[in-house]
Amino acid sequence: MENNLFPNLNMIQTDLNTELYFENLKSVFDSMAKGYDIIAGHYGFDCKGCTDSCCLTLFYHHTLLECLYLKEGLKTLDQDLLKEVKIKSESQIMALKNHNSKEPFRKMCPLNFDGLCVLYEYRPMICRLHGVCHELRKPGQEPLRGPGCEQFTELSNEKKYLPLDRTPFYIELANLERGLREEAAINQRIKMTIAEIILD
Ligand code: SF4
Ligand code: SF4
Repeated sequence: MENNLFPNLNMIQTDLNTELYFENLKSVFDSMAKGYDIIAGHYGFDCKGCTDSCCLTLFYHHTLLECLYLKEGLKTLDQDLLKEVKIKSESQIMALKNHNSKEPFRKMCPLNFDGLCVLYEYRPMICRLHGVCHELRKPGQEPLRGPGCEQFTELSNEKKYLPLDRTPFYIELANLERGLREEAAINQRIKMTIAEIILD
């Protein structure tokens, strides 16, 4: 586990009033959804029939705010489901430890049950933005471009290029993260998988 956060997420959550941060985060997530829908609509893209679920991809999450929000979501699960989620998380972490790094790691996210995310409302940013082509703009640099997932690429060939600009979302999230970290007096770097967040 590369997380070097101390104290752990549960302890941080106990000490902080996160309500306002969560409200603001939800508002950023709403803006992302609107932006995403515009691009998906332009390309006529949706996830129906996808055989390559992005929930099989190992993503790392880097903001304290998203980690705490996911932890908040865990509180909404009933005890049996939570137990299953934790067992799947342990299995995920073990599989990753034993993984041969030459091959991409592919294992279903511990929050995905029968193709559905059980914490859909609480899922992190990358789960919300993955799929469509996108750009990230930094001052004085060419935009960084991402092509979108395989299913998107197959669909999008004929259409006029229209990327999702992730820049404003990243900026808003970074501003919230800065405030939260200042309040929590946390400056350690975070790099956690969903499984690690769940078990932390
Ligand atoms: S958090 Fe939800 S949407 Fe994101 S990878 Fe896991 S199951 Fe999929
Ligand atoms: S975003 Fe792409 S990879 Fe992920 S479920 Fe949708 S179609 Fe599949």
